[in-house]
Amino acid sequence: MGKFSIAIDGPAGAGKSTVAKELAKRLAYIYVDTGAMYRAMALHFIRNGITEGDSGAMEAACDTADVTITHKDGEQVVLLNGENVNGLIRTEQVSHMSSVSSTNKKVRLKMVELQRNLAAKENVVMDGRDIGSYVLPNADVKIFLTADAKVRAKRRYDEQSAKGIECSLEQIEENIRERDYRDSHREFAPLVQAEDAVYFDNSGLTIDETIEEIYRLCEKARG
Ligand code: C5P
Repeated sequence: MGKFSIAIDGPAGAGKSTVAKELAKRLAYIYVDTGAMYRAMALHFIRNGITEGDSGAMEAACDTADVTITHKDGEQVVLLNGENVNGLIRTEQVSHMSSVSSTNKKVRLKMVELQRNLAAKENVVMDGRDIGSYVLPNADVKIFLTADAKVRAKRRYDEQSAKGIECSLEQIEENIRERDYRDSHREFAPLVQAEDAVYFDNSGLTIDETIEEIYRLCEKARG
């Protein structure tokens, strides 16, 4: 029997990973956070002293980066050349570098191959920007999850503040808008809603309401 796949795409801060993680738990599927893969690549570039404008050096460094995904206690673990880098890829520096380096076609093709291999072997809930539109065009369920940029910025701000991290709401909103722009305007596999994806704006919903509605859609599709 073929594997079942659920693709959740959308801009930064829409709640994709929270939704995808919970769906995967309820359905006993594998959760694949593709953003974490781009982040691991970005960390590799930073460690190699590559600047964001140097696409030649980035492409050369692709060949020395082995990114793999494993799962431990239900959590995805990203390995960069064998090292667990989960704790190192959520910094602002890595966020910025991943947003820039993921516009590179060679970087993307390397990650896409890995993502398709995972989906061929397991039932997956995969979140990202181009999963329904490019990586898994035959995914069984496709959701385009979005929210107003101001709402997304406020959610990030609250998250950071709850962790005791000092930050500026204006700066977060500016970063989000910048990343949205870069994701939607890159030449290769940009952030775009797949034609057959369900558009879901959760600006006025809580994360729990979002999960329930999307879970219902998935259950319906599973029959
Ligand atoms: O989702 P997350 O913010 O962790 O992703 C990090 C960066 O990787 C994003 O800013 C986005 O540019 C890029 N990305 C991508 N395609 C994906 C997943 C993430 O270009 N499928």
